[in-house]
Amino acid sequence: MRATVMYGAGDVRVETVPDARLTEPTDALLRVTSACICGSDLWPYQSMEKSSSGRRMGHEFIGVVEDVGADVRTVRKGDLVVAPFAWSDGTCEFCRQGLQTSCLHGGFWGGELDGGQGEAVRVPQADGTLVRLPVGRDDALMTSLLTLSDVMGTGHHAARAAKVGPGRIVAVVGDGAVGLCGVIAARRLGAERIILLGRHPDRIALAREFGATEIVSERGEAAVERVIELTGGLGAHSVLECVGQGPSTETALRIARAGGAVGRVGLPQDAAIPASLSTFFKNVTIAGGPAPARAYIEELLPDVLDGRIQPGRVFDRVTELDGVPDGYRAMNAREAIKVMIRF
Ligand SMILES: [Zn+2]
Repeated sequence: MRATVMYGAGDVRVETVPDARLTEPTDALLRVTSACICGSDLWPYQSMEKSSSGRRMGHEFIGVVEDVGADVRTVRKGDLVVAPFAWSDGTCEFCRQGLQTSCLHGGFWGGELDGGQGEAVRVPQADGTLVRLPVGRDDALMTSLLTLSDVMGTGHHAARAAKVGPGRIVAVVGDGAVGLCGVIAARRLGAERIILLGRHPDRIALAREFGATEIVSERGEAAVERVIELTGGLGAHSVLECVGQGPSTETALRIARAGGAVGRVGLPQDAAIPASLSTFFKNVTIAGGPAPARAYIEELLPDVLDGRIQPGRVFDRVTELDGVPDGYRAMNAREAIKVMIRF
């Protein structure tokens, strides 16, 4: 079969790899029908050291079940299913708490295992991991359904971690696909105002349609001052950090008001958390981490199915598998917000 392999910074190839196949009785074999490139795939794209064996890529995908192991009960051949960006057994201590990214028997796609940016995937722990979709594979909702594997769940997780709710002023740091989904999530959870910190006109326009009420395009100190000014000198109740870099994290922490909360879902690129002293004295809650996307699929799916939310609009480019290397280039160059792969 063919799949995407990264060999180092800027070096993404689509090549022939060993066919995915069942190895455990709890596995399912999935024929991928749609997938995408994640903002987090751009970190290795910018910095990965050269590797002779390469790293299989992709962790957001929808597919048709082609075969299942003897112990699989919840999905069967022919089902259309979505896979969250981590697999999980659904039964351990952490899965029962809804924290499937910490599953005791779970893991993450790609690396030496199959990734979503390929024709087929061996899915471990199929019963805990996969969720059946009540639509056909060419349904118009496919783009929005695909975001349930990661970005929409991640934006929702940021909003939950930041305690978004009615009456709260929310600030979203980052205008990438996750930040835009964070805007959707904040509106869905009843935020009173949503301030987006971002600078790209196309993304800002989409954010406004998703429910952003104010835009702050300054950076650094000026961005902090602007948000403080917009919030009557107090700061935001809830801040969604959707980038993960040092400066964006510092901005997020500094614009939180006393007693507020910051939900961090951008993969941290620095070892230390900035603004330690000021957040301490403001009693700011700092929460977040990898979203348990699996836990949120059932909650968000009805809203996607009836069109109440349209997170699929973050996709602004579609490619076939052979176009994936150029998709990485386009996302890295900020020519595309998010690239969808159709098989
Ligand atoms: Zn588990």
